[in-house]
Amino acid sequence: MPQTYTEFNFCPICGVRLEIMPIEGKMRKKCLCCNYIHWGEYSLGVGGVLLQAGKGLIVQRAINPGRGRWTIPGGYVEQNEKIADAVVREVKEETGLLTEPVSILAVKDRPEDLPGVKHDIYIVFLLRYVGGKLIPDPGEVLQAGFYSPEECAGFNIAPLSLHVMSKAIEYMKEGSINPGFVWKEDIQIVGALSELFTLP
Ligand SMILES: [Zn+2]
Repeated sequence: MPQTYTEFNFCPICGVRLEIMPIEGKMRKKCLCCNYIHWGEYSLGVGGVLLQAGKGLIVQRAINPGRGRWTIPGGYVEQNEKIADAVVREVKEETGLLTEPVSILAVKDRPEDLPGVKHDIYIVFLLRYVGGKLIPDPGEVLQAGFYSPEECAGFNIAPLSLHVMSKAIEYMKEGSINPGFVWKEDIQIVGALSELFTLP
């Protein structure tokens, strides 16, 4: 579910009314006082696929929107947080399980032309079990468990969750190690928190 935002008319830095003018091919809001330009509103989410004996971990949402719907565990990334840390944090919060990222399985891109809706990007990781017991967080999750794609057939499950889970099971069965983009640590990137995920 994409996040919404409120269109603002004043500069968030100095409070002067923003002017609408063409900048790099589009009409954008700019502050003539401090040169702030409003480039857009984006939200970044992550989800995790954790497999166990040919079944995938899914959770049933306890909160609206989508209360009662099953999805892979996940949530939104904090401003200063690595995506790989965010997925581990969200899975721990929702299910009690400690995991580590293996690879990136999928990226969902959801630009929105409706006013006030953020451009939503969602990145799905394959995870590996590290420790902990399955204890769903009652605040966020009604129930959680490992299910095969066949068992999910009667569930109200998000098609994307079912797809990535099924694909991961299929690829792991074939003996493929780490399908998807993996963490590459020997490439220098600008930024203390920067990380690269690329082909194995
Ligand atoms: Zn300003």
